[in-house]
Amino acid sequence: MTITESYKQLNISSEVYDFCQEIWESLGERFAKIDAISEYNQLKVLGAMQAHQVSEACMLGTTGYGYNDIGRDTLEAVYADLFHTEDALVRPQITCGTHALALALMSNLRPGDELLSPVGKPYDTLEEVIGIRPSTGSLAEYGVSYKQVDLLFDGSFDYENIRKAIGPKTHLVTIQRSKGYQTRPTLSVERIGELIAFIKDIKPDVICMVDNCYGEFVETIEPTDVGADMVVGSLIKNPGGGLAPIGGYIAGKKACVENAAFRLTSPGLGKEVGASLGILKDFYQGLFLAPNVTANALKGAIFAANCFEKLGFSTVPNGTEERFDIIQAVTFGSADALVAFCEGIQAASPVDSHVRPEPWPMPGYDSDVIMAAGAFVSGSSIELSADGPLREPYAAYFQGGLTWQHAKFGIMRSVQQLADKGLVRLTR
Ligand SMILES: *Cc1c(COP(=O)(O)O)cnc(C)c1O
Repeated sequence: MTITESYKQLNISSEVYDFCQEIWESLGERFAKIDAISEYNQLKVLGAMQAHQVSEACMLGTTGYGYNDIGRDTLEAVYADLFHTEDALVRPQITCGTHALALALMSNLRPGDELLSPVGKPYDTLEEVIGIRPSTGSLAEYGVSYKQVDLLFDGSFDYENIRKAIGPKTHLVTIQRSKGYQTRPTLSVERIGELIAFIKDIKPDVICMVDNCYGEFVETIEPTDVGADMVVGSLIKNPGGGLAPIGGYIAGKKACVENAAFRLTSPGLGKEVGASLGILKDFYQGLFLAPNVTANALKGAIFAANCFEKLGFSTVPNGTEERFDIIQAVTFGSADALVAFCEGIQAASPVDSHVRPEPWPMPGYDSDVIMAAGAFVSGSSIELSADGPLREPYAAYFQGGLTWQHAKFGIMRSVQQLADKGLVRLTR
């Protein structure tokens, strides 16, 4: 069977194949650059694993209190090494990215302190952590105040107002690397470095924390290489490599990580407890695969941007822009097209390909939301996944793809879905 026949068996017509294949073949130069970054990062991960003598015994887990868990302690040393930090906390007891961020914030801020976001509104779920939206147990309830300086219209930093916002109470600055589900540009590590240098120049002892979600391994450097005191992220995104079934990490200055450890477990106990159960092999192997998995997701995102641009939709980032995270937004302009796109992604999944995603009134949103996710790990967004609120401008956000072959297929399947419903015309 030829490759086109294989695609045909999976419901990709020869018209869609030809349209997409021509675009795929035009991207060789960009893909080569991504491969070079993942090669560099693969060596970084491998080097850290070898330097800390990861051994067969590290794959086993502990139970109960988890004292002297060599696998857990070694993994944390590996993370600290590759982020070039003094210490790290990498735990299955950190349940998700929001939890990791809440932990880092709540353990490093004390009543009377002020938190500053100099890059605009943080990720949705952090609004309740901070208390921007009143919530039980928020930082606001504990007497931690919050200031925010938005980015300027052109996406640049509002240095003047950032300077004004830094006061005697300012204790921690939170910087979100990825745009998340906003329209601002994602920050490159270099730009994060410029911002941190500016802030440290005004107040050297302020803690600079970076929400690193979706950014890990996209570049050859990480925010901790340019002055960040702490980076925080989720293991069901990039650094888990698709294998970690849960978890989060905090890497940074010893004092910052220690604060987080004492909060995660208990004062007096800190990093000493926390059984790893049977999960470490997936953490190690996922981390080992993460540079390649991130590269695969990036190739899918760039391919999608180019396909949907050619079909007449606007994309953020666009087809030619440099990438600093793995998220791709496509503005479909109509509910039908957004739904068809998500149906295509779902139909391309290895799990639950037979179910049809439907828009539903998700808590916290003012309109229905449609989600496509056929993942091995529930909710994992390093696996190919998409979602979008059913309101103007009907934009879909999608990310992930454990292999580029699957990311490519997922996009082709969504183009097919749009074509089948007569929502696009394929022009070459
Ligand atoms: C995903 C994400 C989070 C929250 O992570 P969850 O695991 O969904 O709780 C926070 N910040 C950014 C930028 C993210 O992308």
